Formats: sequence, C-alpha cells, structure tokens
Amino acid sequence: MVATNMTQQAERIDGKARAADLRATVADQVAALGTAHAITPGLAVVLVGADPASQTYVRSKRKLTRAIGMESFEHNLAASVSQAELLALIRTLNDDERVNGILVQLPLPDHIASQAVLETIRPDKDVDGFHVRNTGALWTGGDPLVPCTPLGCMMLLQSAVASLDGLHAVIIGRSNIVGKPIANLLLRADCTVTLAHSHTRDLPALCRQADILVAATGRPQMVRGDWIKPGAAIIDVGINRSEDPATGKRRLIGDVAFDEACQVAGAITPVPGGVGPMTIACLLHNTLVATCRQHNISIDALESA
Ligand code: NAD
Repeated sequence: MVATNMTQQAERIDGKARAADLRATVADQVAALGTAHAITPGLAVVLVGADPASQTYVRSKRKLTRAIGMESFEHNLAASVSQAELLALIRTLNDDERVNGILVQLPLPDHIASQAVLETIRPDKDVDGFHVRNTGALWTGGDPLVPCTPLGCMMLLQSAVASLDGLHAVIIGRSNIVGKPIANLLLRADCTVTLAHSHTRDLPALCRQADILVAATGRPQMVRGDWIKPGAAIIDVGINRSEDPATGKRRLIGDVAFDEACQVAGAITPVPGGVGPMTIACLLHNTLVATCRQHNISIDALESA
C-alpha cells in the first residue's frame, strides 16, 4: 500500500512527466538503432472516417512519432470504405518493409468487423497488441506486444507502488482493450485480481477492499471518495467530456471523483495528465520493440550502445 495517512492529500501520479521520460528513452534508442544498424522504425496509422476525437489522436500520434525520429505513414480512408478495401490496405502494410508497426484507429464504422481487421494485422507488427496471437500470449505467460493503455497503467503503478506482490487489485471494466489486459498484467505482477463490471453486485463494498483500484468504465466520476480504501493507489483510465458547471467550458474528467479520492487515496492519476499521455508513449515504445524483434536486435544492447 502506498500510504495510510487519511488526512494527507494523495500523491499525484504525473503521467505527463512519465510519458515525456519514456519518449526521451525511446528517442535515444531510435537514434542508437539508426547509428548501429541504419534502421528507422516506421509506424503506419489507419484512420477510417472523420470522427473528430480520432482525428485529434491521429494528429498527435503523427507529431510525436516524428519528434522521436520514427517514420510516420498515415492512411485516411472515407467512412464508406469497404471491409475488403481496408483489409487489402492492411495486407500491403504487412508486406511493406518500411512499416514496422500498424495501428488501426478504433472505433471503426458499423459495416466493418473490427475483429476481422485486427486479425489481419501481422502479429509482429500489431503495436496495439489486439491480435489474438498477442492476447493469447499475454494470458499464457508469453512475451507479446502488450496493449498500450494497459502497459501505460502498469508503468504508472510501478512508479508509485514499491511492490505489487500480493496486493488486491480491483479493476472496474472488462473490455478487451483496457479492463481484461490490465487484469492480466496485474495477475502477472502477482496481485490478487478482481475484475468488476456492470453486473457486479455492491461495487462500492468491493472497491473498499482494493489496495489498487483501476477505473475503466467511461462513467464520469462514478467512483466516489467513500468507495476507496485509505492509502490505495488509484488508476483512472476514463476519459469523459463534460461541461464545467462553474465556467461553462468543455473539459475532460475521469471515472473517479478526483477531489474526493485525493482525501483518501495514497496515490492517484489525474485526468487529464495521467493515463492518457502514457498511451501514445507506449505506442512508440511498442513500435521500437516490434522493429527490434523483426530485425533480431536486442533493445538492451541499444541502451548500452
Ligand atoms: P467499454 O465501453 O468498452 O467498457 C466499459 C466497461 O465498463 C464495461 O466492461 C462495463 O461492464 C463497465 N461498466 C460500465 N458501466 C459500469 C458500471 N456502472 N459499473 C460497473 N462497471 C461498469 O470502454 P473501454 O474502451 O474499456 O474504455 C473505458 C474508459 O477508458 C472510457 O472512458 C475510455 O474513453 C477510456 N479509455 C482511455 C484510454 C486512455 O488512453 N486513457 C484508452 C482507452 C480507453
């Protein structure tokens, strides 16, 4: 557990700073890869349609990819694109040697079967870690490409909690892209894991047993201060758009009532500035990992180069 003093404000886990550190490390490794092996990692991002939130994510991915010295390839397709055309593009990217990582921005339009798209990405280029080969390896103790948001959550937790061994982790939310992989990573870190969801009974009582509480529901400020065990570490994955009642301005809020939680928790990620920045930094990290694996190069050797 992180702290036991109920009167103290929780430590704020700074995802923005941690993400900047990770990007700087990846940038050094990319430079070393170029010097030692004349290889520049390439990330292809495929966006279908014109959803404004997705466009914003893709723009910041492009900017940060280039800023750390990687190649960025962007494919913007009309919302009316057929599934066959999208799969054909992915097969082309699978065969393109300049492309080491492929990310298809979700959600996809309803006429496209997302799982079929994700299963078409070559598993060793699947930098989102959503291919069943990577998911399976995660559950069976292998060494897969790990989904970016869950990987970022683990890095933040490990920066705030000295040892996860034996702690009780409660995760609220069981999606394939967030809740389930986080549960798995916590299990691999020797936590005792409870995966809660919309059918869970007496969720507040369950949460009060958690040394680590991860909220990934998309329900604004659902987790209240009195759901939290004193000293617990809280990871708030939620990103919800809401209007500030005081100013009328649009803002982002999490799944946890931050001000209340700060009075009880030992450590907590803010929204914005917590998990969000880690997701893109982990995508860049995964692109480097994928590149190194495709060329049989050890990342550790790059660090000492
Ligand atoms: P999802 O809609 O696929 O899953 C939500 C989960 O929450 C479901 O498993 C559901 O059972 C559970 N849930 C919903 N209402 C509940 C309730 N009242 N009580 C208990 N459980 C409840 O969502 P997702 O894709 O997993 O995303 C979850 C949140 O995380 C969203 O706010 C999303 O925007 C955010 N997110 C953030 C990042 C990031 O980079 N920070 C990345 C992905 C998702």
